[in-house]
Amino acid sequence: MTRGAEVIVIGAGVVGITCALALQGAGCAVTVLDRKGVAAEASAGNAGAFAFADVIPLATPGIMHKAPKWLLDPLGPLSVPPGYAAQIAPWMVRFWWASWRDRYDRALAAQAALMRLSAEALDTLIAETGARALVRDEGQLQLYEGQRAYEASLPGWETRAAHGIAFRLLDRPEAIAEIQPGLSPRFTHAGFTPGWRNVTDPTQWVAHLADVFRARGGRIEIAEVRALRQDGETVVLDCADGNRRADRAVICAGAWSHHLARTLGDRIPLETERGYNTTLPAGAFDLRTHLTFPDHGFVVSRIGQGVRVGGAVELGGLKRPPNWRRAVVLLDKARGFLPGLRTEGGTQWMGFRPSLPDSLPVIGPAPCADRVTYAFGHGHLGLTQSAGTAALVAALVSGAVPRIDLSPYAATRF
Ligand SMILES: Cc1cc2nc3c(=O)[nH]c(=O)nc-3n(C[C@H](O)[C@H](O)[C@H](O)COP(=O)(O)OP(=O)(O)OC[C@H]3O[C@@H](n4cnc5c(N)ncnc54)[C@H](O)[C@@H]3O)c2cc1C
Repeated sequence: MTRGAEVIVIGAGVVGITCALALQGAGCAVTVLDRKGVAAEASAGNAGAFAFADVIPLATPGIMHKAPKWLLDPLGPLSVPPGYAAQIAPWMVRFWWASWRDRYDRALAAQAALMRLSAEALDTLIAETGARALVRDEGQLQLYEGQRAYEASLPGWETRAAHGIAFRLLDRPEAIAEIQPGLSPRFTHAGFTPGWRNVTDPTQWVAHLADVFRARGGRIEIAEVRALRQDGETVVLDCADGNRRADRAVICAGAWSHHLARTLGDRIPLETERGYNTTLPAGAFDLRTHLTFPDHGFVVSRIGQGVRVGGAVELGGLKRPPNWRRAVVLLDKARGFLPGLRTEGGTQWMGFRPSLPDSLPVIGPAPCADRVTYAFGHGHLGLTQSAGTAALVAALVSGAVPRIDLSPYAATRF
């Protein structure tokens, strides 16, 4: 690629904006298009974690024995609205395939490689964009109720150890309280991951990166892209307000990316794992670290001066209205787990995680259009993996050698 090539990035979420900055750094003239604006969807209200310890794909061997139990509770950590069950079935079958031992092992290795790259790339991004004040290094506690739940978690900790993730296992409530006072004594055991990082606020994080991008000459425009096609040496984007052309295009449209890929002839099994949370105002709780309740499918994190409580997975597609009962249930649970939590005055939110069945994103060239690059489908880890993804996209577009093997993330793997 020649320096100064014009690149259009579709999507101004955390993945699109971080990719845009990296492409700019590689010498491209970059325009970002988004139908709504900067951080308008999943990147706005997430839990704000750089969850580098979360290398284990969701489709673990044996998951299909546990899933039916979770699905029985319509407000539990995993749910499928009855009207969406038939539509999600093919994705669930792929999810089940992904949980077979050999596929799981490959996905785990790929996830760990992208995490390592992303952790390194994040350090560079923070330094180059002056973003240090927007990151908290307070680690994460994963909390377990009783010996049995703790023992069930140990294989996961062994897996993390095998991938070089630092942690401390705690087997007394007093040891947990030294890191986070005020938890219910039902949490007797925990794992603490000191390398876990959080942004102070995910919306501000993306807004800051967008400001830096603009200050360096990047353009962000409101436009809805309806279709793409490659025309010789250029990519033509059919937008609601007319056509645009560029030397290259990058699709970072989150949970809507498969609609655009489809216009190029690709069928990508992207679905959305909808998640819910409530952000409580300043003074809600003296939170000292990111809390994860793995057996209940939700987390508690510090956002700005307040506290965000949420998570859960609802495989409900892009069109159904939110079921706010889900946010309420999580908050009720959190009140029991953090007895001093003040739950009044909160703001509810629902977001669309863009998820592929094997928990890995798609990063790589579109199979039928080599001037279009895909960078979407990061599921629960879009913020976490944004800097690594951006480094890979910049390498791909500029003709450099990507720092990790990209075959596990190829669009052709399905
Ligand atoms: C409850 C919850 C908690 C989460 N917590 C974390 C966390 O702690 N850490 C973490 O790493 N991840 C977390 N995630 C996941 C994370 O939020 C997502 O993976 C990430 O935000 C995806 O970023 P994105 O840029 O790919 O997509 P998005 O942020 O959804 O951005 C996509 C953009 O594309 C635009 N777009 C779509 N179609 C078009 C079109 N046709 N034309 C123009 N524009 C278009 C949209 O308007 C949107 O702005 C969480 C998600 C949820 C729901």
